[in-house]
This record gives sequence, C-alpha cells and structure tokens, in this order.
Amino acid sequence: MLSKVIDEALVQKAKHILNHAKHPVLISHMGPDGDAMGSSLGLADFLREQGKQVQVLYPDAPPAFLNWMPGVESAIHFTHSPEACIAAIEAADALVLLDFNTSKRMAGLAPYVLESRAKKILIDHHPGPDDFADVILSYPNISSTSELVFRYICRAGCFDEMSLSTAECLYTGMMTDTGAFTYNSNGEEIYFIISQLIRKGVKKDRIYDRVFNTYSADRMRLMGFVLHSRMRILDACHSAIIHLSTDDLKGFDYQVGDTEGFVNLPLSISGIYISIFARQEENRIRLSFRSKGSYPVNQLAAELFGGGGHVNAAGAEFSGSMEEAIARIEAALPDYLV
Ligand code: MN
Repeated sequence: MLSKVIDEALVQKAKHILNHAKHPVLISHMGPDGDAMGSSLGLADFLREQGKQVQVLYPDAPPAFLNWMPGVESAIHFTHSPEACIAAIEAADALVLLDFNTSKRMAGLAPYVLESRAKKILIDHHPGPDDFADVILSYPNISSTSELVFRYICRAGCFDEMSLSTAECLYTGMMTDTGAFTYNSNGEEIYFIISQLIRKGVKKDRIYDRVFNTYSADRMRLMGFVLHSRMRILDACHSAIIHLSTDDLKGFDYQVGDTEGFVNLPLSISGIYISIFARQEENRIRLSFRSKGSYPVNQLAAELFGGGGHVNAAGAEFSGSMEEAIARIEAALPDYLV
C-alpha cells in the first residue's frame, strides 16, 4: 500500500478540473528529459483513455534517445510548430504543467500559458514553486514527477484503468530522474510502485536498454574526449569541472542530447562529491551541477549564476565566457565546502 503523499483536497481539485476538461493540454519544461516526457506522455495517455482530446507540448525538441516513448509522435514543440502550440493553448480547457517550478522553464510557451484563462494544474517535485497555477501539487521529497502522476492516478481511483503505455512512460521518468535508481531512490514505496508497473506489463530491462544503451559512436568518443581533455579535478574541494566549447563539439557530429548525463561522470571518482559541467551554446554557457550527500548545489547555482534546482541536481545559464564561468566557480568552491 502507498501512503497518501498528495493532499486529498488537491487530488479532488485536480480530478474535478480534469473530469470536466475535454481538451486538456499538457506542458513540460524546455530540454525535456525522461521525467518531463514520462510524466506528460504518461498522463496524456491516461486522459486519452478517458476519452479526452489531449495535446502534449514542449518548448523545444525531445532528445533522440527518448523518441521511442509511447505517444511522443503526437507531441509538438514550440521551436518547430509555434502556431500549432499557440492554437492548442487557446483551445485548451485545462492546462497541466509538469516537472518544473517556474514559468521561465516553458520558454517560448510561457506567455501563452500565463495569458490563458484555462484552469492550470502544476504537478512537480522541484522545491519552492512560483504561484502560476490554480492547483499546485508540489512534493519535493518525491524523486520524480512521474511518480507523482502515478500517485495521482491511484488516488483518483483509476489504477485499474492505467494502460501499459502510461506505465511505460511513468517507469521511464522514475528511472531517469534517479539515475536508474542509484540516487534519490531510497524511498521504499518506489519499489512497490515499480512492482505495480511491472504488473501492468512494463519490461524494465528493455526500457533501461532503450534509454541508456543507444549512444552513437561519436557520443562515446565525445565522452572519452571530455574526460581525457576537458576535466579539472579540484581535490581540495572534492570537486570536478568538465567543459565543452562549441568548437569541441564540432569534431563529434554533436546531436541534441549527446551530452546528457556527462555531468554525472566525475561523481564516479573516489572523493569527488560535486561535479559541474559547463557547455557553450552559441552566446551563452549552460551549466549543470550535481552533488552527492548534503552539498546543496542548487544554492551554488543560485548564488553564482541565478540558477536553481534540487539539492543534488541544479542548473543555470551564464551569458559570459567559458573562462569567466569556470573562474567564478573555482573562486567560490573553497568557501562552499564547509
Ligand atoms: Mn523531474
């Protein structure tokens, strides 16, 4: 049995909105990851099974390694189809916002969503959500939004109606947001939920294979390059910084998503508790932060670059040069490790 994580009044409010919606639109964050896609595609499939006309929107394109997920073919993204996205939001009678805590994460979709008078439900596990939805299901102690969607469906009394496609999507999100259950995954109920998803027919080993064993040879070579030539170890700070410029990426036929997961690699080194990955993107630097244990990298990301995220996983953007970004991090780390 699952404990009742989601407040009963919130379950009822969300259920009321969704029961009355004919054209719900589901939206997740830019740079959609396994949990963004798992939670949105999983809930979309569930609502379609209930006879609703559902549209899933992303600010930008999903990565290729997730293009097998059930329902991904009918999702659209703003950078490719802005008119269709705007039309879907205008026609929506409910908006479900999944796996982000600030409207900025919707990028180009944000103004249309904020203007919409459709009821908005936020389902998320990032701390401190902004107040941009009518019903906010925010549970930072839960390791994935996909798990929250599972819990919502159960609490709405619909576990028996959950399809295999929904189960596959939700499993994918739970798996990717925990590094295949290697971090943020000590909650015993996670494993009860997995057992229920397997009962639905989920082939978990196959999903792992589809998500993690689909790299191109170029991507593997890029991983070798970044570890060999672009990694600085700061022993005294128990930290590692890896970085890639746009020139670095050119030699490896870079595709969107190719650097996914690179930030975690230095955490495999004994004594390294903080890892930071800086990647140049045209005129800005995208930064990812990861840590083990209680080092709050969301604070580091916020203080240095105005970013944010979870205690052990955060992100930020910087409009200066790579050298400036790295210098700022290196200057801050010694004070940070107390
Ligand atoms: Mn997530």
